[in-house]
Amino acid sequence: MSNPTTLAIGQYTDMDTGPLARDLGAMTLDSVSGIAGLPDAVRAGITAVAFKGHVAFDGAAMDLLPNLGVIANYGVGYDAINVADATARGIKVTNTPDVLNDDVADLAVAMLLAQGRRVVQASDWVRSGNWANSGEIALSRKVSGGRVGIVGLGRIGREIADRLAGFKMDIHYTSRSEKQTPGWTYHADPVSLAGAVDYLVVALVGGAETAGYVSAEVIRALGKDGVIVNISRGSTIDEAALLDALESGAIAGAGLDVFLNEPKIDARFMALDTVVLQPHHGSGTVDTRRAMGQLQRDNIAAFQAGRAVLTPVN
Ligand code: NAP
Repeated sequence: MSNPTTLAIGQYTDMDTGPLARDLGAMTLDSVSGIAGLPDAVRAGITAVAFKGHVAFDGAAMDLLPNLGVIANYGVGYDAINVADATARGIKVTNTPDVLNDDVADLAVAMLLAQGRRVVQASDWVRSGNWANSGEIALSRKVSGGRVGIVGLGRIGREIADRLAGFKMDIHYTSRSEKQTPGWTYHADPVSLAGAVDYLVVALVGGAETAGYVSAEVIRALGKDGVIVNISRGSTIDEAALLDALESGAIAGAGLDVFLNEPKIDARFMALDTVVLQPHHGSGTVDTRRAMGQLQRDNIAAFQAGRAVLTPVN
């Protein structure tokens, strides 16, 4: 049997391992650290990596694959891949934009609603017998017609804003530049944005440039009735400041799909009943994961056939 040309790195499910092997003849590895253990001849034959996960893939690992030409990321966020290192080596990087926008936006709205209407706490109220024993749950808070701020009006941020406009919310946003919108309010800086809204939804890219973008100052500006929703990356929020604010009641709550050090997240989150915790599954529906896998494979197939990749990052 000839050596594979595609190496699939990460935790794939059957939905993807089958097509990766069938369409691309891919060999799979659990993580980047396994590359060094491959025989020299196998490493030399690899021209494409199908990458999935959040563990760093940097130049040192790329150098172990001397004929690597493309890294196709499974996901729109490619902050685990050192793109500068890839570019310096003439390696193309691709991602899977757009096909996941709806799902991620849906989850952001679900967490916002869950926070406002205390959906998780209310479910616990019924399940624990409190409803029968203690009567009505404390009143929650009206969401429709409230004020929301979107941090990063990119592909996903815009889908979130479009959905919340349907809830008659007053939409504010910050981005590096003002966008064409149906009259939404632009703020040049996130502190001004946070000061103007009740709900702050973070939809930024991750990576070094946006680390701690939602700073202690931004969180303070949101105030004690404020709720933060994050579907971007754990790194975009100063997580220590967020935990302090939640514990002290400096903000009202949070809905979080992403954290630092996933999946071993800070234990302080577990003790807070004002947060809705989700296991980084914004794009985690069968339909969307199928589309992401297809786009990842289509990028590799295009590259290996000498055609332009479909969704380039660099
Ligand atoms: P996008 O279209 O590229 O939008 C990203 C936003 O980040 C834009 O508003 C952009 O600002 C802003 N931004 C980029 N670099 C910045 C910088 N240096 N400083 C300040 N703002 C910056 O990306 P997308 O497709 O919407 O995806 C956004 C992120 O969502 C992904 O990168 C990923 O990390 C995350 N995500 C999470 C899940 C999940 O499961 N929870 C799933 C998919 C994606 P401008 O508008 O000024 O360009």
